[in-house]
Amino acid sequence: MRRRVGVPTAFVALLAAVLLIALVAPRLWRRHAGAAPLAGDAPDVVLVSIDTLRFDAVRGDGPMRAATPALDALMKSGRTFDRATAHVPLTLPSHSTVFTGRLPPQLALHDNAPFPLRRDVPTLATLLSERGYATAAVVGGQPLAEGCGLERGFERYDSPPRGRAGAAAFGERDAMSVTDAALGLLKGAAGGRRRFLFVHYFDCHQPYDPPPEFVRGDPTAPIDRYRGEVAYVDHELARFVDALRTSKRRWLLVLFSDHGEGLGDHGEETHGYQVFESTVHVPLLFAEIEGEATRPPAGLAAGDDRLVGLSDVFPTTLRCLGLPVPDGTFGTPLQEPAARATAYVESLAGNLQFGWAQVTGVRAAQATLVHAGAAVPDDLDGLFARPIAGDPESDERLLVPAATPAPDEGVLATWRDELAAARAAPGGDVPEGISKLSAIGYLAGSRDPQRLRLLPFEANAELPSPLGRRDEVKELIAAIAQLDRGEAMAAVAPLDRILARDPGQRAALLHRARARLALRSPGGMGAVAAGNDLEALLRLDPLYPGARPLLAKAYGLTGRFQDAFAMAELSRESEPEAVVERLLGSLHLTPADPAGRANPRADRERGANELLRSLELDPSQSDLARDVEQLLAKAARTDPAAAWLAAAQERLRRIQRRRYRPLRSAYSKTVRRFRARGGAATRRHGRSSRV
Ligand SMILES: [Zn+2]
Repeated sequence: MRRRVGVPTAFVALLAAVLLIALVAPRLWRRHAGAAPLAGDAPDVVLVSIDTLRFDAVRGDGPMRAATPALDALMKSGRTFDRATAHVPLTLPSHSTVFTGRLPPQLALHDNAPFPLRRDVPTLATLLSERGYATAAVVGGQPLAEGCGLERGFERYDSPPRGRAGAAAFGERDAMSVTDAALGLLKGAAGGRRRFLFVHYFDCHQPYDPPPEFVRGDPTAPIDRYRGEVAYVDHELARFVDALRTSKRRWLLVLFSDHGEGLGDHGEETHGYQVFESTVHVPLLFAEIEGEATRPPAGLAAGDDRLVGLSDVFPTTLRCLGLPVPDGTFGTPLQEPAARATAYVESLAGNLQFGWAQVTGVRAAQATLVHAGAAVPDDLDGLFARPIAGDPESDERLLVPAATPAPDEGVLATWRDELAAARAAPGGDVPEGISKLSAIGYLAGSRDPQRLRLLPFEANAELPSPLGRRDEVKELIAAIAQLDRGEAMAAVAPLDRILARDPGQRAALLHRARARLALRSPGGMGAVAAGNDLEALLRLDPLYPGARPLLAKAYGLTGRFQDAFAMAELSRESEPEAVVERLLGSLHLTPADPAGRANPRADRERGANELLRSLELDPSQSDLARDVEQLLAKAARTDPAAAWLAAAQERLRRIQRRRYRPLRSAYSKTVRRFRARGGAATRRHGRSSRV
């Protein structure tokens, strides 16, 4: 829960923020000014992402259709691409294809972890910033939190705090807060420059928890709740688009979704592990907005009903602005005739997290051609996985609705060529240092750089296919969600079942250990068992994210303090420094294990300083900041003369001053609300974070 800010504190903070703005803002805005100007008639640009939005929730009249009057009006008057493809059904890699025009293999980025997006490629934000745009982002969901790499090129990047590594639920803020923040950016000064805004709505992502007035039908049914989220985002989008219309500027609006949502189609509830239409077919819209007018951008006024990919957004947007497309871009400008018959799709999450096969393929008009590993069932609940190669060793399959005939050999040859070209697109070298990157994401994958490369088809064909393991994925995700809700006891049984079938299932080993540590069973038996799971996991994958710190914790809970410290130090090879410092700090602050065995290395001063170091490295850890505040307050009561205390308190104050920074970007909103409420300075938040 977020603490409410009392009036005096808020007022002082507000004053401080206003003063800071007055001093700092002009300099901030000037920082990127002075680059080569654009053509005089280039518009301002806004990129809107509605995360987890299925195509058929906003188009057509099928059973998933939601009420979206604002989107309907925009799509009617702008240029929509009704056969757009998300190359990868995961948030960070998919947004990265939009921002760079490159495919996941070129970016060596196939899952929400590891991150960040590599720094050696230009993005829409870096290019437009260089051209003198004032760049700012409002992010709704934690997979795109600052640190993911997309923030490069943004002068302001307003994102929710990062949640725990390995958690199934993400930190997010709701659509009303996102729109409010975006309106604040619109009203703030841009120093006479054009703007580039990125606005990210995360509400349609699980859990589906819309305001009740947006739910039609059964408020307990996941599909109706999902459609309620879509309707709610549409309502908030309308508020944002109204502000664009009254801004007296001309806007290029690019709207897309990074992936869809399974909602039960072919046995998939959410997204990430499969490449079915439900998750890779997404809405895509380009529109020019000026006052009350909405029209297709020049060059996109009319066109064929071609199949496009989200990597085409980058070059198309640049072309709309009259800017050159950088070398190394895979996507093609949609102002030109169609360059390809298919769009690349992949899911490597099952490989990275479970050791199953990689899924790579191309989505075409009639079917999706995939290489998906061994033991693919022929019938995937109404979708057929048809072998076509005539070679029993091959893992090539066509995903087709039952009635669709297989294409002829000439068509297949084109698809195969396009898949080969996408897999081998230049730039796919894994950048140095990627193994040290930190983890966010629900099922953090391995950071072994070797595993970030695509497997040859022959090797992939020997691994079990995620297409045949949809129930296991579902079971695992449900167990992790229980764990994140604090229901550790309930999570153990399904994890036991998964591991009884497949003792080497890495993600299940990690999360069963989490559950056992959370249960704190009498006699430390849970911690011993958790230690066994984690040791087994590290034998399978020595770099599995999150495993080493948890093992250090398990050792500490069973009185093995020397082993705990040693494992914490070893975590430096696989975890971010902030995580390691926090771990060491909490170990030094533990006087004894639950059975009363003393910790020979307990050291309050050292522990406090390690926690402070962790906070300095990652100030977004608000729970840790509270813990340290309490720790120092207690030390001040019990041992006020301690020599280290004053320096530690000063260090904490410095960190807290840094953490006040986001107020600057939200200052205009705070001022407005403060005035509107006659000085009642409790800021209204949307629904609280769902994590
Ligand atoms: Zn997403």
